[in-house]
Amino acid sequence: MRIGILALQGDFLNHVAVLDGLSVESVLVKTPDDLDVDGIIVPGGESTTMSLLIQSSGIYEPLKALLHGGLPAFGTCAGMILLASSLMDGRTDQVTFDAIDIVVRRNGFGRQVASFETDIDVSGVEGGPLKAVFIRAPVVEKVADGVEVLAEVKYNFADSTNRVVPVICRQEKVIVSSFHPELVGEDRLHKVFLGLI
Ligand code: GLN
Repeated sequence: MRIGILALQGDFLNHVAVLDGLSVESVLVKTPDDLDVDGIIVPGGESTTMSLLIQSSGIYEPLKALLHGGLPAFGTCAGMILLASSLMDGRTDQVTFDAIDIVVRRNGFGRQVASFETDIDVSGVEGGPLKAVFIRAPVVEKVADGVEVLAEVKYNFADSTNRVVPVICRQEKVIVSSFHPELVGEDRLHKVFLGLI
């Protein structure tokens, strides 16, 4: 099994480290020629920059076609944004892969200073709660029928509303998290993703 990791910007090397720890081969995806893979990870980083780079590198159209053809995918934070069907508060020219039927609000948890860490229980994941790191993370505002919510958090938003929002979603072979398991050496969500392949 060869797992592609979109390697144009962001924390792709942290995902390589997690896959190395699981003895799974990873391929750094920098051009369309690197897309001969069994699954793709879209890392955290800056989705506006990645949006520009996926287009200028020529990766956008072929990867979108593969995703729509059923290529399994795992996106963390900016990766969630890129895989989502619909985006709020993005740049007007920002593109997404439309691979999972959710609406996400970019930077919905607030700015860098509002970054936080919390423990979350994940449906179907054993071994205790996951440590989740949220950094300028996207908020899932809406999920379509057919999207499974695997974890949620309760959060006090800047507008003083206290809401419970999804932070891990899955639809068929696409899984996304608002946070960064790869930054804390957490491999259990990667295992869930690999189990989808
Ligand atoms: N806010 C970033 C974006 O819009 C995502 C941040 C992250 O990946 N930690 O892409």
